[in-house]
Amino acid sequence: MPEFDLDAHRGRPVTIDDEGERTLFEQLRIQEVHQQYQTSYLDLVQKISQGDTTKINIQKDRELFKTYNRARTDYQESLNKVEEYEKDFRVKCFARMRSLILAVLFFDRKSNTRMTKFNAEKLIEIGALQEIPECPRGGNYSIIYKDGRRLFHCSIHGTLRN
Ligand SMILES: [Zn+2]
Repeated sequence: MPEFDLDAHRGRPVTIDDEGERTLFEQLRIQEVHQQYQTSYLDLVQKISQGDTTKINIQKDRELFKTYNRARTDYQESLNKVEEYEKDFRVKCFARMRSLILAVLFFDRKSNTRMTKFNAEKLIEIGALQEIPECPRGGNYSIIYKDGRRLFHCSIHGTLRN
């Protein structure tokens, strides 16, 4: 029996929350592959614990892992898609923060002050923005300070550094 670290194959749980623009079909597909993955994993654990591990049979061992490996690949591919999808939100969020930076700079210049605390109403009041850009995932925007620099920060997507 070759050595397998079962825990290393366990993968991480998928969180399926706040679907946004994701289609119902994609959600169901992820749930389905995750289910298959879990089932095959538990099945494999059972087979390993029941099987005679004293004999080495490469062919048989390979068969044993086949279903599990396939389910795992499917699951991983679905996860990658979710990550791509998340990346998309991040890009959108950062683009919105960039427009907020422009608005804040405009505000500074017009009011001859420095906006130290993010104030969306003030930006609209002064005509820097028509409406407040919002994080596509509902994060909260704030102005933070790092090394004396003002940076925009989203509670979900992090700090915009450029
Ligand atoms: Zn965000």
